Amino acid sequence: MNVLSSFNLENKIAIVTGAARGLGEAMATGLAEAGADIVIPDINYKEAKKAADKISELGVDTLALKCDVTEKSDVQEMVKKVIDEFDRIDILINNAGICKNIAAEEMSLKDWQEVIDINLTGVFLCSQAVAKEMIDNNGGSIINISSMSAEIVNYPQPQCSYNASKAGVSQLTKSLAAEWAKYDIRVNAIAPGYMKTELTAEILEKNPERKEYWIEPTPMKRMGKPEELKGVAVYLASEASSFMTGNIMNIDGGYTLY
Ligand code: NAP
Repeated sequence: MNVLSSFNLENKIAIVTGAARGLGEAMATGLAEAGADIVIPDINYKEAKKAADKISELGVDTLALKCDVTEKSDVQEMVKKVIDEFDRIDILINNAGICKNIAAEEMSLKDWQEVIDINLTGVFLCSQAVAKEMIDNNGGSIINISSMSAEIVNYPQPQCSYNASKAGVSQLTKSLAAEWAKYDIRVNAIAPGYMKTELTAEILEKNPERKEYWIEPTPMKRMGKPEELKGVAVYLASEASSFMTGNIMNIDGGYTLY
């Protein structure tokens, strides 16, 4: 196969959770630019629909769905709707995630649980429900959005639940890759560094001095742009990465080097 054709995603069906905005929206746009039809399950249906409508201008089919990734019944209903509409699922990006900056000694069980439920349990629930369809359809590609926080402790903001959840996502990625290789399901993860999205903008608005701590230790001396994840998402979703599974790709301007 010609190398450029191996990146082609025409006739592929891709689900990107939490893609109403931010990194998910950018990656969903990248997959659509490579030809994939896009499903956006997000807790915020109105924004998901806006993002889906914008992506459909690229000439692909899109579907926005209201779905809380922590609710098993929501996830099962979402997968059923995708199968009803498109017949199969080729690609899943588990992107929905939140971060809470709370000192560990002050954190309530509710706050801890909410981060773990969305960031880690949500990835498991969506992967399990989609994998059942992929098994019937001779395989697929699952891409989990982990973080460099799986590997390093961010400074100075306290975010132990986020860091623990993302370490869980990275190890879940490897575990599912090992279990599901026999079904031709590849499972990889992207571990971004500091990226300019609403999630980080909210933190910087309250604490502008943090930018210095985030950028100075980054060898490339800047934050990443959401569209800088498009290429890696298309690579992992496509035949271009056909012998790759269980891999965690750091896309962080070099932050984890030091
Ligand atoms: P974002 O702008 O806050 O977007 C996250 C999206 O997920 C939002 O649309 C959000 O909806 C949705 N969502 C939240 N809870 C959900 C749930 N229970 N079910 C379904 N959807 C839900 O975040 P982002 O910065 O793009 O981050 C996307 C992913 O990348 C996350 O997993 C994050 O941890 C990871 N990441 C981000 C960075 C970074 O620097 N930005 C770095 C490393 C990793 P609402 O807006 O209604 O809450």
